[in-house]
Amino acid sequence: MRWKVLPDPARRPPIRYVQCKECDARSEVVVSQAEGDLWSMHHSGRTNHRQYREFAASDLVTEPVREGA
Ligand SMILES: [Zn+2]
Repeated sequence: MRWKVLPDPARRPPIRYVQCKECDARSEVVVSQAEGDLWSMHHSGRTNHRQYREFAASDLVTEPVREGA
């Protein structure tokens, strides 16, 4: 049987967080990139740290592919 992978329609949008690369502090888990950006700007204001990494995760589901369809 062949399978395909799809975004989970019950679990959108992707979740994300931002981590400071200089001290490992992390934002809350948020949905919008703007919230992660805001956390980074606040963190820079408090610490003068400038380097961040954004992590984003999407829930996926698999579905069998009907042969000949
Ligand atoms: Zn930091």
